Amino acid sequence: MADIFRRHGPAWRSANAGRVSLAQLKVMSAIESCRTAALGGHVERCEDCAHVRIAYNSCRNRHCPKCQAIAAKEWLADREAELLPVPYYHVVFTLPAAIGDIAYQNKAVVYDILFKAAAETLITIAADPKHLGARIGLTAVLHTPGSSPGAGSGARR
Ligand SMILES: [Zn+2]
Repeated sequence: MADIFRRHGPAWRSANAGRVSLAQLKVMSAIESCRTAALGGHVERCEDCAHVRIAYNSCRNRHCPKCQAIAAKEWLADREAELLPVPYYHVVFTLPAAIGDIAYQNKAVVYDILFKAAAETLITIAADPKHLGARIGLTAVLHTPGSSPGAGSGARR
């Protein structure tokens, strides 16, 4: 995306002047300059072989695919580090479509209820001797429409 923006961005900006918001222009600029000399950087040198590498700074914009890929990777590594040496199961709770609009307008309230209800359900059923008879732990991740796992738009509790 950065290559496309760098190559066609200037022409696109002038063709769409006045129709692009300042916020959108800022995102484009961040993506174009992410990990280039424009944002500065530093030189890394191996102490053993003296190999030198130039590392340019990231834009850290939440819309930048490069930065978000790094953030997703770090998030996954952090979750992996929390895993216990026990079996894990993937369980999906879905909001009924009729609640979709209410959830969109009241994200904090509705998702808080969803997370609490899902956690209570799993803990209660797992504790039942007819099922697992165990005290469990869980990691809950919100997938909103259009988001992909670990893409950064998810929330964790
Ligand atoms: Zn970036």
